[in-house]
Amino acid sequence: MLRCPRCWTYTFSEICPNCGAETADPAPPDFNPRAPADPGRRG
Ligand SMILES: [Zn+2]
Repeated sequence: MLRCPRCWTYTFSEICPNCGAETADPAPPDFNPRAPADPGRRG
């Protein structure tokens, strides 16, 4: 899932269908939804 940095529209397209801006993956490269929460690490 990608997100538009301009209007925050979520889309699967690399180009925002709402405003035409380039979208980006809002999750960090090492994001792992299956990993346990680590309260000692932020940012
Ligand atoms: Zn947009």
